[in-house]
Amino acid sequence: MGSMNRTTLRQVAGPVSFALIVLVCWFVAGMVADRMVQQELDAALRAQRQMSTSIVDNMAEVIASDLAMSRAIPATMAAMDVIQHALVQAQNYAANGEAAEPALRTALLKDAQMTTVSQFLHDAQGFSGLDQIWIVNANGICVASSSTVMSPQGFRQSFVGMDMRPRGYLTNALLGAFSEAYGVGRTSGEPGIFIAAPVYADGLLVGAVVAKVGIARLRHWVAHAGTFVTDDNGVIIMAHNSALEGRALPNSHVTQMSPAERRMIYHRDTFPDMRIRVDTQVRAQAPWVPAAVAAQLFGMNGQPVPALYQNRSGLNSGLSAHLVDPLTAWPELLRNHKRDHLLVFLTLAGTVALAWVITVSYVRERRHHRATRDLAEQLQSANTLLSAEARHDALTGALSRRYFLDLLRHEIDRAHTGNEPLCMAIADLDHFKQINDRFGHAAGDRALEHFVDTCRAELRSSDAIGRLGGEEFGLLLPATNLAGGREVVERLRLRLKAEPSPKLPATVGLSVSIGITELSHDDLPERIMSRADTALYAAKTGGRDRTEALPPDDTAPPTRTVVNAW
Ligand code: GH3
Ligand code: MG
Ligand code: MG
Repeated sequence: MGSMNRTTLRQVAGPVSFALIVLVCWFVAGMVADRMVQQELDAALRAQRQMSTSIVDNMAEVIASDLAMSRAIPATMAAMDVIQHALVQAQNYAANGEAAEPALRTALLKDAQMTTVSQFLHDAQGFSGLDQIWIVNANGICVASSSTVMSPQGFRQSFVGMDMRPRGYLTNALLGAFSEAYGVGRTSGEPGIFIAAPVYADGLLVGAVVAKVGIARLRHWVAHAGTFVTDDNGVIIMAHNSALEGRALPNSHVTQMSPAERRMIYHRDTFPDMRIRVDTQVRAQAPWVPAAVAAQLFGMNGQPVPALYQNRSGLNSGLSAHLVDPLTAWPELLRNHKRDHLLVFLTLAGTVALAWVITVSYVRERRHHRATRDLAEQLQSANTLLSAEARHDALTGALSRRYFLDLLRHEIDRAHTGNEPLCMAIADLDHFKQINDRFGHAAGDRALEHFVDTCRAELRSSDAIGRLGGEEFGLLLPATNLAGGREVVERLRLRLKAEPSPKLPATVGLSVSIGITELSHDDLPERIMSRADTALYAAKTGGRDRTEALPPDDTAPPTRTVVNAW
C-alpha cells in the first residue's frame, strides 16, 4: 500500500511541478509585460494629452473671439442716438398678457419711426453676420426688429409687439447688465446665442438691443472630431457628432431646472445623459492599467476605446469647450500586451528549460565522473595488488623469479657502468623432498619461510632474495666482491643451522648448499646465473651443506670449501 502511494506520488509530482513552473513563468511574464506596456501607455497618453490640450485650447480661443465680435454689434448699437431715441419714443408700448400682443403688434407696425428703425436694424443685420437684431423697450415689448422687413428669403416671423420679458437674458439686460445666453428661438425654433445690451438715454435705462447668432453659423467651433460645446446649464448645444446635441453632462444644472424653465430655453423636456464618465471598462479589459491611469480615462456609451477628456469652462456666454479623444493607441496596446506576455513567457520558459537541462547534465556528468574515478581507483588498487603479487612470491615474500631476473639485469648494468663488483649466489635446501615426505608439505612450507626469514636477517637491505623455483633461491649482493660475498653466504649457511625455526619439529635438520660467483666485466645475466648454478652443483655433489665459489673468470677451477660439520 505504502509503496503504491509512493509510486503514485512520484508519477503525479512530475507533471504537477511542471505545471507549477509553467504557471510561475506565465505569472512572472505577465508582470514583465504589464511593466513594458504600462510604459508604452504612459508615452501614448503623454503625446495624446498634449494634442488634445491644444485642440481644446484652440477651440476656446475661437469661441471667445467669435463671441467678442458678435457682442460688439449690440454694444455699439446701444450707444447710437437712433436706437436711444426710438426706445425713448416707444416707452408707452406696454401690455399685460399675451392677449394684448396682436393689438400691440399692429400698432407698432404702423408706427413710422419704428418701421424706420426696423429697416435700420435690417441693414445692420445684413452685414453683421448676425441672424437677427431687435430692440426691446423698458416694458419688455419688442418695438422694432430686423426681420420685420421683407427679405429676399421671404417674410420672417417677427417679435414686434411681443412681450419678451420671460427670457433670462432680457431680464438681466433690463436690469442694466450685459447678458448672453444660449437658447432655442421661441418662434423660429432655431437654436442660437442671444446677446443683450442695455440701452441708456440721459442716464435712464430705456430698453435693450438684442442680437441672435444662429448656431448654424458657429459650426466651425466643433470642426474637430470628438469636440462639443455646452452651455452654462451643462446642455450640449453643438457637437461634432450631432447625435450628442441636446444631451446633458452628468449631474448638470439642467437636471435641477423646472420643466417650464427647460421648455422656455430649450423647447424640450428631456436631456439624455451623455454618459461620459471614468471608464470602468478599462480595468476589466486590461487589468494591467494602473488605477491612477484608469481614473484619467473616460468611456462613452457605445464607444469601445477609452478616451482622454479635456474641457475649458467659463468661456463667454457660460459656454464650455469639450473634447472626448479616443486613445488611438489602445487597440495596439492590448495587442502588444498579449504579444509581450507570450514572448516573455517563452523566453522565461526557454531559460528555465535550458537551466534544467544544464543542471541535469551537470549532475549526470558529476555522477559519471565519480563512477569513473571510483572505477579507476579500484583498478589501480587491483593493479597494485597484482603487481605486488607479481613481484613477490606469495609463500615466502621473497622476490618472484621474473622480478628477480629483471633486477639481476638491472644490477648488472649498474655494476658495469659504476664499475662496481656484484655477487650472485644460488641457494638450494638440502634433501628438501625428505622433509616434505617426513613432516608433511606444511612443514616444508614453514621451512621455506624460515629460510627466507634467515636470509633477511643475515643480508643487507640492499641485497635481494628471489625464489627461483621450489626450494631454490637466488641471492644478489651489490657492491660486494667474491671474497666478501662468500663470507656473507657462509654466515647465512651457518646461521640457518644454528637457529632452527620454532615452528618446525626439532628433528628437522635444515641445511643449504650455496653456489656463489662474482660478475665479470663482460658478463650477461645468463652467464653469471649458469656460473652460480655450476658452483651450486659443485656444492651439492661435494656433499651438500657447503658453499662453493666460482671466480669471474670461469676458466679458473672452482675453489672448494667444505665446512661441513656432520
Ligand atoms: P637435494 O638435496 O639434492 O636438493 O635434494 P632435494 O630433495 O632437496 O631435491 P629435489 O629436487 O629432489 O626435491 C625438491 C622437493 O621440493 C620436491 C618438491 O616436492 C619440494 N618442493 C618444491 N616446492 C615446494 C613448496 O613450495 N613447498 C613444499 N613443501 N615443498 C616443495
Ligand atoms: Mg634441494
Ligand atoms: Mg632443488
